[in-house]
Amino acid sequence: MSEKPQLIVHGGAGDIPDSLLDPFRAGCRRAVEEGYRILDSGGSAEDAVEAAIRVMEDDEAFDAGKGSHLNQDGFVSMDAGFMEGAHLNVGAVAGLRDIANPILVARRIMESEHTFLIGEGAARFAEAHGIARCNPEDLIVPREREIWQARRQTLRLATPYGDTVGAIARDVRGHLAAGVSTGGRQFAVPGRVGDVPCVGSGFYADDAVGAAVSTGEGEHIVRIVMAKRAVDHLAAGMHPQQAAEEVIAYLAQRVGGRAGIIVMDRLGRMGCAYNTLRMGRAWWEEGRIEVRVNRED
Ligand code: ASP
Repeated sequence: MSEKPQLIVHGGAGDIPDSLLDPFRAGCRRAVEEGYRILDSGGSAEDAVEAAIRVMEDDEAFDAGKGSHLNQDGFVSMDAGFMEGAHLNVGAVAGLRDIANPILVARRIMESEHTFLIGEGAARFAEAHGIARCNPEDLIVPREREIWQARRQTLRLATPYGDTVGAIARDVRGHLAAGVSTGGRQFAVPGRVGDVPCVGSGFYADDAVGAAVSTGEGEHIVRIVMAKRAVDHLAAGMHPQQAAEEVIAYLAQRVGGRAGIIVMDRLGRMGCAYNTLRMGRAWWEEGRIEVRVNRED
């Protein structure tokens, strides 16, 4: 049976500065182009999610891979998650410092007997699976170094903008996959991990129901297990847009959180909601790519 493939990506929710609007739009568009090309030629949802996220990890505009935020020690510390909806396999990784594409590691973990690896052990697992380490300095861009220098004066966890990246794909077999990758929050305490590698909070996918991927303040997102909550709403019959809006409203009302979410149901219908200033997102619709960053776009 051949289904209509579908793809939605996000480049993060937060106070995205004007200077990054065009790079966000261009990066989200390229991610959909790459991912959709794979789906259109019959490729798997996993391959499409991986390709879309790699584009954004390699793009230094986003807080994932190169361009990740720096923690208080002045290093990147990256997390990623991957889930496929046929067998509910999950791969998660946290605290990577020297791997350019954490989404590759999350996928390899998902395809192994493990579900969640951290730090040096995760990096060794990656190497053993053919994923090269890089120089940690290669992932640091001047913009983040400058922000880090300024933040050293205040020693606070700051959220000027969040630009974790994520993707949900549905392939021609009607199979779903979801992935997410982040450099976390600016000037985070070393060892800090947010929602991104936490299955159910940062990401979830179930072919029988749908999938969701979160972005925003991880400390709040995990408290309402946001992605799974959205998927549960789909199971109860909500449209993805309604499910997205409900979880963001609940997050704000119940724990005072600021975040965004993308949602897709098993039929490929999509939704997106956020209560931050902006959220970068793009998707395939009627033969073309739609890209948004502002509410009024
Ligand atoms: N959710 C990510 C985290 O808390 C950050 C973000 O999406 O901006 O690590």
